[in-house]
Amino acid sequence: MARPRQAPIAPGATIGILGSGQLGRMIALDAARLGYRCHAFGPGAGDPAMQVCAAATVAPYDDEQALAAFAAAVDVVTYEFENVPYAAAAFLADRALVRPGPAVLKICQNRLREKDFCASVGAPTTRYVEVGGPEAVARELRELGAPAILKSAEMGYDGKGQVLVKADSDPRAAWETMAGHAPEAIGILEALVDFRMEISVIAARGLDGQINTYVPVENRHRHHILDETLAPARLPPALADKAEGLARLLAEKLELVGVVAVEMFVTSDDRILVNEMAPRPHNSGHWTIDACVTSQFEQLVRAICGLPLGSTERHADAVMKNLIGDEVERWREAVGEPNSKVHLYGKAEARPGRKMGHVTRLLPKRQG
Ligand code: AMP
Repeated sequence: MARPRQAPIAPGATIGILGSGQLGRMIALDAARLGYRCHAFGPGAGDPAMQVCAAATVAPYDDEQALAAFAAAVDVVTYEFENVPYAAAAFLADRALVRPGPAVLKICQNRLREKDFCASVGAPTTRYVEVGGPEAVARELRELGAPAILKSAEMGYDGKGQVLVKADSDPRAAWETMAGHAPEAIGILEALVDFRMEISVIAARGLDGQINTYVPVENRHRHHILDETLAPARLPPALADKAEGLARLLAEKLELVGVVAVEMFVTSDDRILVNEMAPRPHNSGHWTIDACVTSQFEQLVRAICGLPLGSTERHADAVMKNLIGDEVERWREAVGEPNSKVHLYGKAEARPGRKMGHVTRLLPKRQG
């Protein structure tokens, strides 16, 4: 439903970014183009976002004095990853505008809350159940059917804290792989999805309730880390519409102000199931920087500052390849390719599994 217009936070204002990785860096670069200043808050001096922000606070997320000073120094706060502590976002929300609001963060930080939320608004997911220890894993596996995937309810990303549990797996070993020895760990056991494609849709929702979505894209993972994104996904129009509709529904029901990435499975019998949501720009949306009228990063800035959302129209199709670890060296070839755009994140050390940059290859636009 449309909301009454509020005065926008005009260019010249300062956007606070909780987190200081590459997503923060790309938010700041697009914000600067619109005339905003950015102030990053994170624990690591010299992090990718710190290198391009007008101001930076290097402090742990539980440093209340630093958080209070940060809140006082900015006009609006957003976050660039969903595992910033909820307490930090809530503390800031008492002192500054935080968009998306902490309630959205709370849902998206926890796989159980996230899937319960999807169920409550009619967005289909795979079957799932909460498990509190190895005995529950053994019991629920019989209900759900093997194999299933055991994930930690919180702090999981890029496949961390996940394990495939088969009929003959040792539930205790599976639990320990997932939870380590944390006594308070909560797990979620998910029915294995027989998918033919992994896709995501990025939706932005403005302060006035307007929602714009980007086309669904196709994601290929390697070692549980996003490797390549194909934009648009090779889907029949009816399925693409369905996926966009789900992202739109979730953005609306979350009462989001900002950007949400919704990762989904396309099953072999053509159903679409939501896997997870990230209430922030997403790796699978990096192609929008070079191939769309408005990038996902500019869209976030527009949403949280109360500007009208920009067009999500694409002027090219695209393949986005992440440069992970040593692959960063591929910038040398890519930078000479006429239709490729190289993005490097300013990280000094190319550790295995570390996202160092990405290359977006632009292709002639197909229909649609
Ligand atoms: P996630 O951290 O939930 O995004 O999971 C990482 C990857 O594991 C996904 O991109 C899928 O490739 C795979 N995966 C996660 N959950 C399931 C599931 N329930 N069934 C099949 N594959 C899954």
